[in-house]
Amino acid sequence: MANANHQVWVLGAGQLGAMMRHAGMPLAIEVYPVPLDSDTIPAVPPNAVVTPEIEHWPQTPANQALANHPNFMNAHVFDRLADRLTQKQLIDHLNLATAPWCNVTTESTADNLFALLGDRVLLKRRRGGYDGRGQHWLKQPHATTIPDAWIGEGIAEAAIDFNEELSLVGVRDRNGQHYFYPLTLNLHTDGILTASLAPLARLTPLQAQAECMLGALLDELDYIGVMAMECFRVGDKLLINELAPRVHNSGHWTQAGTACSQFESHLRAVTGLPLAPPKTRGLTAMVNLVGIDRNNQWLAIPEAALYWYGKEVRPGRKVGHINLCGTDPEQVSKALEDLKPLLPEHYDAIIQWAQTQIAAGRQ
Ligand code: ATP
Ligand code: MG
Repeated sequence: MANANHQVWVLGAGQLGAMMRHAGMPLAIEVYPVPLDSDTIPAVPPNAVVTPEIEHWPQTPANQALANHPNFMNAHVFDRLADRLTQKQLIDHLNLATAPWCNVTTESTADNLFALLGDRVLLKRRRGGYDGRGQHWLKQPHATTIPDAWIGEGIAEAAIDFNEELSLVGVRDRNGQHYFYPLTLNLHTDGILTASLAPLARLTPLQAQAECMLGALLDELDYIGVMAMECFRVGDKLLINELAPRVHNSGHWTQAGTACSQFESHLRAVTGLPLAPPKTRGLTAMVNLVGIDRNNQWLAIPEAALYWYGKEVRPGRKVGHINLCGTDPEQVSKALEDLKPLLPEHYDAIIQWAQTQIAAGRQ
């Protein structure tokens, strides 16, 4: 049995907690994910560490017991980042670039949002939105009013005509040292992440800019562990879209593509183990499995590493992902081609996107 300070209890027991548990095994870090709806107060030893897999949770006795544990890591951070209003205020406070925004209050009208933010305005729920849920577009000339449900509950953002979406996953240890994975290129389909690629040589010139932004945030928050920063690239400038104080879907490629995944990095950081600069193993494509049934034929593709979450399949629900890693990008492109007939037809565009990006990187 590992020493109790190598016990990590996770608030939440979805796929992120499960993947942390998996990542803890080689290091004999015992990871105990606790379902958000648990009605049993967990018996967490005093010197164990607690970390959430999600930034907001129902205020049940079990969740409160976890969140009030003396070793609940980054306890002061979640309220601040789980609310888009205070998250945006933090980003502004550090003078970091982000999509122009304002708070939606009883004083707000559609006209003054358009005047401030332009003809297309995206309302976002302050709390609880994910996978593009919790968004509402106001577009001139059709929208004339802000729906009541958004007053006091949302922020408004200018529509960004971005070139592409990137994310940076970083980790900060107990001594304040940062480590960053290479920037990830992400494809979102209907607000849901569907594919990621990393590393890509053409993104290297943006790496320092991204590290500087996320590094400033990690330091300001005196944060320990993994945090993800989602960005829009507009020309050679990055704008922060949002922050996730946890392991993140756009970092799943690190399971196959690096020697130490984002899950292991997070565990090492929160338990005080040494970290090392991430080493990549080649190019990795991550394809999210969204609302589709499992097909064991995926496993016949030599590059394919399948993570199946064991959840009930529902439309729009992330039920697994496949990592395809290769030292030769051509090999990854070929593996994607092999995967294509094993996925529903609407994945053709996603595979095509990934293959086009890979081909562009080879020119
Ligand atoms: P997640 O599942 O990552 O938590 P989310 O639903 O919380 O997502 P965002 O990441 O803010 O919300 O938005 C989801 C997607 O919507 C973005 O990845 C992007 O494609 C699009 N989007 C968000 N904000 C803007 C914007 N200001 N302009 C244009 N598109 C946007
Ligand atoms: Mg997002």
